[in-house]
Amino acid sequence: MAEPTIPAPKTHFASDNTSGVCPEAWEMMARANSGYAASYGNDAWTERAANLLRDLFESPEAEIFFVFNGTAANSLALASCCQSYHSVICHEHAHIVDDECGAPEFFSNGTKLLGASGEHGKIAPAAIAELASKRTDIHYPKPRVVSLTQSTELGTVYQRHELEAIHETTQRFGLVTQMDGARFSNAVASLGIAPKAATWQAGIDVLCFGGTKLGMANCEAVIFFNRELAREFDYRCKQAGQLASKMRLLAAGWVGLLENGAWLKHAQHANQCARHLASRFEKEAGLVAAHPVEANAAFIHLPEPILRGLRERGWVIYNFIGGNVARFMCSWQTTDADIDALVADVIDLRGNIS
Ligand SMILES: *Cc1c(COP(=O)(O)O)cnc(C)c1O
Repeated sequence: MAEPTIPAPKTHFASDNTSGVCPEAWEMMARANSGYAASYGNDAWTERAANLLRDLFESPEAEIFFVFNGTAANSLALASCCQSYHSVICHEHAHIVDDECGAPEFFSNGTKLLGASGEHGKIAPAAIAELASKRTDIHYPKPRVVSLTQSTELGTVYQRHELEAIHETTQRFGLVTQMDGARFSNAVASLGIAPKAATWQAGIDVLCFGGTKLGMANCEAVIFFNRELAREFDYRCKQAGQLASKMRLLAAGWVGLLENGAWLKHAQHANQCARHLASRFEKEAGLVAAHPVEANAAFIHLPEPILRGLRERGWVIYNFIGGNVARFMCSWQTTDADIDALVADVIDLRGNIS
């Protein structure tokens, strides 16, 4: 008897890091891969990438470091802002809480994360104020940082007025603001404003700017607009095993993405794909989104039989936020054909069920 055939996993929409390296980054890595160059970031590619980032943010004084992944970027940036007796106010379902295996606490030697609630993955200014003022005695870890994820874990985007309201609150309580920008490009593409308006002009002291999900191999930039917070950060990176010896190959990816605006083009494309996917789910299958689709994620209410059916057909789908809500992520690599294939399976399953 023939073995039942197991379909190859279809990871297209499982995450935005199931995609490969985009052509612009790949090509520049190939160019950087010629001859010899100084190691540990003392090379011309690294200088060029850092300068392109300073230009992009219109922040000539920014201190810039490159690390391998987002967990390190967030953890080391937060550790640099905090003493061990401090605390970080963040959304209760932030990546730093749910998905970094305690690395922020580990690298800061015990800084505590204080989870704030908030609709659609966003922290409300009132929740920050409440946590910042709840306790002022010596027995409670002192609030020091607010960490915002932009775009959020739920595919929403802090709007400009929301950033301003949060800034007003952080100023009132003397807090530093760190931004987890694993999907910062998608947020900028969604907001349609200058990167500076979404960061230092809105009170962001340090940004962890994601390169990997955007289309690079494995690199994130830690950008300190507040230079004081960057003190001895190079030592932190090295101690944490985050100083690349062949740094030019990481830096080249940034050069490829930044030099001709590919970063924004890819982010716009991914956002557009997520909107398109959500609208087809709604129009063609009557399935609605659980959160506003503002970046490159679509969270869709998916009846259990459809979710199961899709998995049986090989689709890898996360529903980590529970209920019957499934997450679909888009990237630079998402095509109309990918979306067609997914929607066709959903319509087919819907027909079988009803
Ligand atoms: C993916 C992601 C990161 C980075 O995760 P790594 O796997 O460590 O690179 C950080 N924050 C958010 C919100 C993410 O989605």
